[in-house]
Amino acid sequence: MKYVLVTGGVVSGLGKGVTASSVGVLLQACGLRVTSIKIDPYLNTDAGTMSPFEHGEVFVLDDGGEVDLDLGNYERFLDIKLTRDNNITTGKIYQSVIDRERKGDYLGKTVQVVPHITDAIQDWIERAAMIPVDGKEGHADVCVIELGGTIGDIESMPFIEALGQFAYRVGSGNFCLIHVSLVPVLNVVGEQKTKPTQHCVKGLRSLGLMPNILACRSTMELEENVKQKLCQFCHVPAENIITLYDVSNIWHVPLLLRDQKVHMAISKALNLGIVSEPSMLEWSTRAELCDKLNETVRIAMVGKYTGLSDSYLSVLKALLDASVACRKKLQVDWVRSSDLEDETAKEDPEAYKAAWDLLKEVDGVLVPGGFGDRGVQGKILAAKYARENKIPYLGICLGMQIAVIEFGRSVLGMEDANSSEFDPNTKNPCVIFMPEGSKTHMGGTMRLGSRRTYFNVSDCKSAKLYGNKSFIDERHRHRYEVNPDMVETFEDAGLSFTGKDETGQRMEIVELLGHPYFIGVQFHPEFKSRPGKPSPLFLGLIRAACGQSSDGSTLKKGASSMKGNGLSNLSHNFGNGKKAKALEVIYSNENGVIC
Ligand code: GLN
Repeated sequence: MKYVLVTGGVVSGLGKGVTASSVGVLLQACGLRVTSIKIDPYLNTDAGTMSPFEHGEVFVLDDGGEVDLDLGNYERFLDIKLTRDNNITTGKIYQSVIDRERKGDYLGKTVQVVPHITDAIQDWIERAAMIPVDGKEGHADVCVIELGGTIGDIESMPFIEALGQFAYRVGSGNFCLIHVSLVPVLNVVGEQKTKPTQHCVKGLRSLGLMPNILACRSTMELEENVKQKLCQFCHVPAENIITLYDVSNIWHVPLLLRDQKVHMAISKALNLGIVSEPSMLEWSTRAELCDKLNETVRIAMVGKYTGLSDSYLSVLKALLDASVACRKKLQVDWVRSSDLEDETAKEDPEAYKAAWDLLKEVDGVLVPGGFGDRGVQGKILAAKYARENKIPYLGICLGMQIAVIEFGRSVLGMEDANSSEFDPNTKNPCVIFMPEGSKTHMGGTMRLGSRRTYFNVSDCKSAKLYGNKSFIDERHRHRYEVNPDMVETFEDAGLSFTGKDETGQRMEIVELLGHPYFIGVQFHPEFKSRPGKPSPLFLGLIRAACGQSSDGSTLKKGASSMKGNGLSNLSHNFGNGKKAKALEVIYSNENGVIC
């Protein structure tokens, strides 16, 4: 096994994850099998309990692992399926060492960071690297390891020490270090400054790690004299100093690495014997196509955390994958669900009006997953608007539960229809607590990871979108589900449960008959969407939003002509607010790289 370690210096947010994933893509394009490990030096054992608002979304794996969103980047870029062991945290390492100490494995010894924690880290890396992740037998050829945080952080010290030892353990020719750094340009003189990189490489070397390749983030390509300076002070050959300058979209990054011959530098460090040029036609075609798209499709994301797009990263990526497949430029309009509620109309009429104005402009509505009752009423109103006005709607997890509750209230006249998550005493519990394990304990009762859904209606949009398969496997993360006792009542009124689990008791897919596209799913299809292989349900949403039928053919009556029908059903008291700003998902972060 060969290892490529990616570290970061100077500042956080340099795009280490994207760089590491792109290195993986490049090596794959050279015919190698690649796996990856992400190290997060925080004390949480996993990302499951972390707020999406603070830390970005919790990514869910097939095995039910709740992990850092960077693992989503690896899965999407490399088209692999990782396991929970591919995400190492300080919490996991300490827990394993303390468990062993309690069992008596270290009897008589003082248990210390060095060597016990550092040994545990190395053993974990070696073990996780061997897990096959690309559906083939046997282990990968190269493991890309990304160390989270910035060199110098107190948290990452045991990992740095362990990785220094690890480089020695696996021997030269098997370990390559890529250090991602920043070369800022001072506005006044426009000069590329090398000092921050010099300092962080010095820090890295003092900790026993020597970089083979320096990947410098900068606005433009590095000037030759700047490269020479870095080469001299950091002891890295000039041909191994590359610039990750600003590009128009994220899919250009692997191409940027290829153009600067990073595969040759890695090949040399790891004795990979790469001689031929990597084949990256698919990547270059997609990157160029994405630049050329100008016809826009607008999707409203009606969620709780609209301030941080990373909170819904995989949903945004899945929308992007589907939009590119439909040759449309994606525009995401963020609608804070609580702004749609009557309460806001009284307290902040401007925000209320802006939110409704925005919702009425879009081509499709997406209500993503969520927990807790904040903003739920607003999501219900958004689902009602989409249902009544025949606007394409995709509800994911909570978004599906919302659609069922709304239907119960508006169509079946169950005024207090609700989820027992939000109202445990409702007389019409459309959504109830259905744990796979204990009914009395909340801890460990989440239904997590890949579960099978069987289509019990073949002539429905979702089955067709999934290519008329008899079953599909998608990832889950929830505790509550549609009440099986109420299903018949709903079906009689036109809400069809087209996908169920193997027992027929858990509702997985719901579709509204007679609507251009109104689908809710208990699972999270976004986690398995890939560039070039968009998730079928997202593809269906985008097609419907573009006025096509979900199988791709153009409708006689475009969706836009249907849009607006029944608007008079809604009466809202709008204030004189400002129009909310629409954000595009294809946006640049402060470094200009598209996220
Ligand atoms: N809160 C809901 C549940 O636990 C939905 C969860 C989700 O959307 N991921 O079932």
